Amino acid sequence: ESYKRIAEVDDKVGAFLALDEEKARTYAKELDEALGKETSRGLLFGMPIGVKDNIVTRDLRTTCSSRILENFDPIYDATVVQKLRDAQSVTIGKLNMDEFAMGSSTENSAYKETKNPWNLDYVPGGSSGGSAAAVAAGEVPFTLGSDTGGSIRQPAAYCGVVGLKPTYGRVSRFGLVAFASSLDQIGPVTRNVEDNAYLLQAISGVDPMDGTSAPVDVPDFLSALTGDVKGLKIAVPKEYLGEGVDENVKQSVLDSLKVLEAQGATWEEVSLPHSKYALATYYLLSSSEASANLSRFDGVRYGYRTDNADNLIDMYKQTRAEGFGNEVKRRIMLGTFALSSGYYDAYYKKAQQVRTLIKQDFDKIFENYDVIIGPTTPTPAFKIGEKTDDPLTMYANDILTIPVNLAGVPGISVPCGFQDGLPLGLQIIGKHFDESTIYRVAHVFE
Ligand code: GLN
Repeated sequence: ESYKRIAEVDDKVGAFLALDEEKARTYAKELDEALGKETSRGLLFGMPIGVKDNIVTRDLRTTCSSRILENFDPIYDATVVQKLRDAQSVTIGKLNMDEFAMGSSTENSAYKETKNPWNLDYVPGGSSGGSAAAVAAGEVPFTLGSDTGGSIRQPAAYCGVVGLKPTYGRVSRFGLVAFASSLDQIGPVTRNVEDNAYLLQAISGVDPMDGTSAPVDVPDFLSALTGDVKGLKIAVPKEYLGEGVDENVKQSVLDSLKVLEAQGATWEEVSLPHSKYALATYYLLSSSEASANLSRFDGVRYGYRTDNADNLIDMYKQTRAEGFGNEVKRRIMLGTFALSSGYYDAYYKKAQQVRTLIKQDFDKIFENYDVIIGPTTPTPAFKIGEKTDDPLTMYANDILTIPVNLAGVPGISVPCGFQDGLPLGLQIIGKHFDESTIYRVAHVFE
């Protein structure tokens, strides 16, 4: 069914980069045959899943939407992909994204444009634009995205689907091509909250292959979907309903709060005083980490190598000049500068210190409240091409999602209304490793 739908609509939506039809069909057939037998079924038995193209899949092309990996066929599966197989779901293809997950609109892909299924003139968001658009267009019910500064939640909001960034450490990053290792998390994108909880259940857990995955218990997320929010204490940061946030967006958040109040929850205004520094902190830290992570793409170990060089140094330079797109180059330059001697203390070290202050803002609120609620983005999706010439307004898109990554806490985006025919997202942020409470609140909006 998924392949049929993809054949029907993906010409218009452009969510998929690579399909794995033959292998997927063979596996689906095996599962069908197993159906007759008395064997226990996996949690996601037979479910078709799309995977963002920065998550490695054995023998299935993994490009990160970059020319530099245009011919890269990994020799192993990411831990999450293995876990999906253990749950007996069927991985059916790879999804478009901003190159190396740097961007907010999927316009930085070296291969194709992905469009917002609600209105094809608009961006789907990014960087997991393919993951959100594929679900919104009904091509697949489940996808995986990655979120470093909002890349799951922002496209989920723009496409009217449910996207969760788990707590840092909840899901293994083994096999996720690193952008900013201290911020990156893989997470589920789905049509509804229940599916989301299923998918998180399947991919969570400590992994010996990833030292930053956390040795904490994985609760039964599905049992959190009780519909009961009585007595729950909600914090609403005034910075999240302040300047730059559209009136309609504010109103839809206030309406959602009313719904929660009617069910017995209470809310109060709070402050995240350091969130105004989050954007600058994020772009310094994430670019610094990216400049180090991306040094492995040198034309020797992976993917593309230039033909236009006659010595080794030129080969490195030319390969990277031809292989990386402009946004990736911009980040590598910014990060290399921020880490360089003489500037390190002023930029990188300072940004690390501010990150701690931002995290402390969250810790303080969570001493007295169960969840934090606000919009996912200040506006609905924008038009394709509207922000491509202005990186700074593009960066400003993530102003409400980035603090969550810096603090390492989990956050979800669920649909909460429309503006001019485009969906809006409600962001629900929880305590470390408390995705359950997020799901409990999110479930109210199903
Ligand atoms: N849009 C942000 C960036 O460009 C976030 C990306 C992400 O979460 N991967 O860095």
